[in-house]
Amino acid sequence: MSATAVRRSASAIRRRSHRPSSALVGGVNSPVRACRQVGVDPILLVSGRGARVVDAQGTPFLDFIMGWGALILGHAHPEVVRALRQALSRDILLGLTGPDEEALARMIVDAVPSVEQVRFTTSGTEACMTAVRLARACTGRSKILIFEGGYHGHSDSVMAGHTAGIPELLARETVSVPFNNPGAFEEALRLHGPQLACVIVEPVAANMGVVPPAPGWLARIRALTKAHGILLIFDEVVTGFRLAWGGAQEAFGIRPDLTTFGKIIGGGLPIGALGGPRRLMQRLAPEGDVYHGGTFAGHPLAMAAGLAALKQLQQRPPYGRLEAQGQRLERRLAELAAARGVPVRINRAGSMFTLFFSGQERFIAWWKGLRAAGILAPPSPSEALFLSTAHTDAHLDRFLRTAGQAFKAAGR
Ligand code: PMP
Repeated sequence: MSATAVRRSASAIRRRSHRPSSALVGGVNSPVRACRQVGVDPILLVSGRGARVVDAQGTPFLDFIMGWGALILGHAHPEVVRALRQALSRDILLGLTGPDEEALARMIVDAVPSVEQVRFTTSGTEACMTAVRLARACTGRSKILIFEGGYHGHSDSVMAGHTAGIPELLARETVSVPFNNPGAFEEALRLHGPQLACVIVEPVAANMGVVPPAPGWLARIRALTKAHGILLIFDEVVTGFRLAWGGAQEAFGIRPDLTTFGKIIGGGLPIGALGGPRRLMQRLAPEGDVYHGGTFAGHPLAMAAGLAALKQLQQRPPYGRLEAQGQRLERRLAELAAARGVPVRINRAGSMFTLFFSGQERFIAWWKGLRAAGILAPPSPSEALFLSTAHTDAHLDRFLRTAGQAFKAAGR
């Protein structure tokens, strides 16, 4: 968008937002965007490029939300934009299968050894929902096991206990145990093992802040699920193509039965996918008896953007650099917090990290300090900050300077 166009749309949005009540519930379409956890009004963003976004007042921010992890190449990467323009010149929606679907599926199959076949969906939610259904069909069992603090989208089975509107009968089929707790996990398997269709887990938890798996934890889950005939689903919606080209399963050397993807594989467009060995995936319709379909599944624009994004990651693997940048941030943030006497725990896996403050008020003070200085972090202490290839060392220096200043406010 040109500067004039951005200004024009910003002032249009400002005018609209002056209406006394929004036509949107809570002014948003996804609750965390309402910024209620930091006690500010929803922030309207109107444009983004690289590591930068601009709000409706024309204020630029250095962005660490990064499309909640989808934008590993930064906002509006030129190659992704080019692929989208090309795709748009062909059509918007074909309605039958298009040429990029096979190509993107093939990239995922080649990157992730546990995956032989892929089915695209339009969100990570839908991918996880379908993976759970597939697991139930393949095992003939009905219970599923999830971990406290994990997030697998908002379908009924994986949201049991976290939202109103789920039938009690269905909620009873979900067993929830603490993450990184082998004793509780083994006890749950002792009680429910023969009824469990699947264990679904974020290999690195990213929705209770970043919580890496304890040493040996994923291997233990793998061994015990195998022993009990339970399918292991890795939810790699966040970690896929972020922690490594082959995702967390490559980084930790664990082979799950099924994997779900989203975010990065769509290059910023709505997407999800599930994948696994042919023998399981063949149970999906039209080959098998487990239904999944969708008007927008494999949408041409999402396929084109995803393919362009993955090609970039394949041609110029950013993982070494992102890890080095992440390490530096983690070390410096810890030093800065210690120097200011702020008790904070920093958890990191590759290019995603979270600061855990002792108390919500400290987090809010820190977040507001960043925002006042033009830095946007997720407005919730349970979300991760994400780096992208668009974040330069100079950007990170600025982030560190600002974060150090903001620790002062958080320490009071
Ligand atoms: N799984 C994980 C681990 C996620 O973080 C998310 C979304 N943040 C989802 C699934 C759901 O994906 P979507 O928002 O695309 O439905």
